[in-house]
Amino acid sequence: MSLMIENVLIPVEDGYATVNVQVKDGKIAAIAPQIDAIATKLLLPGFFNAHTHSSEMWQRGIMSILPLELWLAELYDFAPLDTEQVYLSALGTAVETLLSGGTSVVDHLVLIPGQELETIATAVRAYREVGIRAFIAPLIQDESITASIPSGESTQTHEPYFRSTAATLEIIEEAVRQFHRPEEGVNILVAPTGIQLCSDALFTGCIELSNRYNLCRHAHLLETKAQEKLAQEKYGCTAVEHLKRIGFLGDRTTLAHCVWLNDADIAILAQTQSTVVHNPLSNLRLGSGIAPILKYRQAGVNVTFGCDGASSNDSQDLLEAIKIGAILHNVTDSDYQHWITPRQAVEMASLGGATGLNLADKLGSLTVGKQADLILYDLTNLSLLPRTDPIGLLVLGRPTNVVDSAWVNGKQIIANGKITTIDVDNLRQELFNRSQWETTRKSQTVAQIEAHYRQVMGL
Ligand SMILES: [Zn+2]
Repeated sequence: MSLMIENVLIPVEDGYATVNVQVKDGKIAAIAPQIDAIATKLLLPGFFNAHTHSSEMWQRGIMSILPLELWLAELYDFAPLDTEQVYLSALGTAVETLLSGGTSVVDHLVLIPGQELETIATAVRAYREVGIRAFIAPLIQDESITASIPSGESTQTHEPYFRSTAATLEIIEEAVRQFHRPEEGVNILVAPTGIQLCSDALFTGCIELSNRYNLCRHAHLLETKAQEKLAQEKYGCTAVEHLKRIGFLGDRTTLAHCVWLNDADIAILAQTQSTVVHNPLSNLRLGSGIAPILKYRQAGVNVTFGCDGASSNDSQDLLEAIKIGAILHNVTDSDYQHWITPRQAVEMASLGGATGLNLADKLGSLTVGKQADLILYDLTNLSLLPRTDPIGLLVLGRPTNVVDSAWVNGKQIIANGKITTIDVDNLRQELFNRSQWETTRKSQTVAQIEAHYRQVMGL
């Protein structure tokens, strides 16, 4: 299988070059200069949507304006409980990711209780059908939701979680046996949701599976001020110190959010070569705070971007997350020499994502020998005109329907701006038919826990 992507602009050291890119057997085989032609398209490595939760698509737009702990309680009260919905929202997440420059998605997948393997199988099927490179991180925990809020002065007790830690780990191991096929573009990750809802036994079990099957690790980390407090209550030290002590951090560990870390924590992430996934829109939507991204970069911590689930964003537009995630820090850090440039943002979104998933030798840049996960942008689109700096306008502008083509592992899955592998019109129809206009809902769990939350947070 060989194909030629002709007459395209690519970024080079001192600007852009017009080239032909040859793809053979799923890999970039050659990049040859084209002297006389004027390119109308820009070729970039595919980005990583390095943290999302696909089934949140069903509640986007309707979630109350609440901080994470209360928002989560509402989310779970109305979570979809049917695999057909999981299937459709995984398709939707894949399509929106692809159409905003992503060729890989890390789905921290919420599992339907009692149908855990079916949920994973459904997401695998959806991602295989679309053809996006999938990193499925089944979201697991072994503590019940009220445990995620600090106790403060109160003596809280929590319901035990409905499934044992051992049973949860067995599900993950079975998912690895059935579905982990990296060479086919489907990867399973170990993904405890975070310190707020997981015991050390669960973390340790995940570390063992990760070592035995060579799996990447994924978790939320210190998304909110409440989690920072909780870590002190739970461990008597920071969450990062604790995760280092139990051995969860490392060069194939990606950590979503990382808002509430101190300088010593940041040094630990650098030393362990852990990756931070920046989810700026979610952090703004839930009032979680602004992650100290420029500090991470100065400390040598790898950083990439995620949309986070569509209920806290409320979209899956990766270019939007990259834009906000890049320029947000111009207001938090006055030294403009550290501000993120458009080219740096592109590198974070591509090579940064590949690095976090331990695939920097195979993905993340336009390099001969790497897998052909590529996106072609239409530079004649009104939102990318007039001709200035294509990457500057792609990152800082408001690019609209600019993806012309996409390839994953050398296989074309977008052509002329349209997904070629699935029927998107049918997907739109299904999403429309299976939902209804709504305005307000009442979450019983929020009503139960809100007073305590306000008290411990000093509100
Ligand atoms: Zn998340």
